[in-house]
Amino acid sequence: MQTKLLINGHLVAGEGPAQPVFNPALGRVLVEINEATEGQVDTAVRAADAAFESWSQTAPKDRSLLLLKLADAIDANAEELAKLESDNCGKPYQAALNDELPAIADVFRFFAGASRCMSGSAAGEYLPGHTSMIRRDPVGVVASIAPWNYPLMMVAWKIAPALAAGNTVVLKPSEQTPLTALRLVELANDIFPAGVLNLVFGRGQTVGNPLITHPKVRMVSLTGSVATGSHIISSTAESVKRTHMELGGKAPVIIFDDADIDAAVEGIRTFGFYNAGQDCTAACRIYAQKGIYEQFVQKLGEAVSTIKVGQQDDPDTELGPLITAQHRDRVTGFVERAVAQSHTRLITGGKAIEGNGFFFQPTVIADAQQDDEIVRREVFGPVVSVTPFDDEAQVLGWANDSDYGLASSVWTQDVGRAHRLSARLQYGCTWVNTHFMLISEMPHGGQKLSGYGKDLSMYGLEDYTTVRHVMFKH
Ligand code: NAD
Repeated sequence: MQTKLLINGHLVAGEGPAQPVFNPALGRVLVEINEATEGQVDTAVRAADAAFESWSQTAPKDRSLLLLKLADAIDANAEELAKLESDNCGKPYQAALNDELPAIADVFRFFAGASRCMSGSAAGEYLPGHTSMIRRDPVGVVASIAPWNYPLMMVAWKIAPALAAGNTVVLKPSEQTPLTALRLVELANDIFPAGVLNLVFGRGQTVGNPLITHPKVRMVSLTGSVATGSHIISSTAESVKRTHMELGGKAPVIIFDDADIDAAVEGIRTFGFYNAGQDCTAACRIYAQKGIYEQFVQKLGEAVSTIKVGQQDDPDTELGPLITAQHRDRVTGFVERAVAQSHTRLITGGKAIEGNGFFFQPTVIADAQQDDEIVRREVFGPVVSVTPFDDEAQVLGWANDSDYGLASSVWTQDVGRAHRLSARLQYGCTWVNTHFMLISEMPHGGQKLSGYGKDLSMYGLEDYTTVRHVMFKH
């Protein structure tokens, strides 16, 4: 197992304290890895800064070739990467191999092509006797900070556009799930020039803080919690670094009387519980119209109670554990407080599962009200709430009455209504009659506390560039 940091083209052991890395399905330590010291963080940033000069001047077609090689290396090592991811997250191996790994390679391929196709305003004589042109240049050293829910996928979303645009990167994966990122940088080290991509392992407090505040870091890109996002924004304010924030979510799912109820039930069974609900877009805050409400709740309860919970190697397993015992206890607290209210009904699930792993039963809570904690806060577990609504105006108001603004969906057969709501939902994404589908060509990112900046797509690539004006006097 690869446990070394990558600094300036060298795989080196961390010189800080050892941190345990778990398999949450077994509740057992897989390996201990030494964190980077502040000195190692400094060396990594300086290496990235030194490599910026030549990487930023490398032609897009040549950067692109290296990203394509990394995508090929990911494909060639997909089984090993999926096994590492599955062991480190407890997520089903088949899902890691068949859903995540192809999408990860695709992100590198998309940005490899996109870096050759940037566009902008026409050059011209906007002032007589002068020609103006627009450039899009890389920003500099980017600190890329990833979470634990889709460890390698989030690393791909962070580093592919940053490198494609000509920046150099110091990557910090989550201290809970570093294994695939550590293997990825080993593969990348055979492909990229020294210093272009570096990895430091460790916790936010000890390794993240010296990284984000380093004077040579020009941009910090985070996928993580709102608390970490606002900490990074305030810590980087003094040095005026660019920030890019993909934070939490609490997706509203609006199901009208005229929707295909079976399709909606099947959709929520999948998109509310994929990755044990540890997904910022999870279909978790359901509003169902009163005409179909009881029928919908009953069908959803039946469907969710058939979700197969199990170990990651069992091909029938659909739902794995939560990432840590602490997170399982947090989810338990949300559910206990929700069902203790006299107006709610527990339809299925509701409890942590006894044993060494950190499993929680897939759970449906009906009759939740708009001001309930379970409707307002991000649970990040296999738990959905259902709330009845009367009409379009009421549900639109409730859907938008949220601190978050990442993802939403509308389920209806009425095309006009689908357009009307899509235009008025204050979310980075609205799906109609589906949920959760992400593609490399389309942007992903939030509003409000869900953050700002886009991952994926040309918009994501542009976020890692700076717009410049160059003017020639004739
Ligand atoms: P987290 O904020 O605890 O950690 C995310 C990363 O930030 C980790 O690598 C962590 O070590 C690092 N970090 C923490 N403190 C830091 C500091 N002071 N300086 C620098 N880095 C620091 O989040 P998490 O628990 O790993 O992930 C779950 C959260 O991520 C959820 O809120 C979820 O909604 C969000 N998320 C959002 C998206 C999205 O696309 N918007 C995608 C996935 C996850």
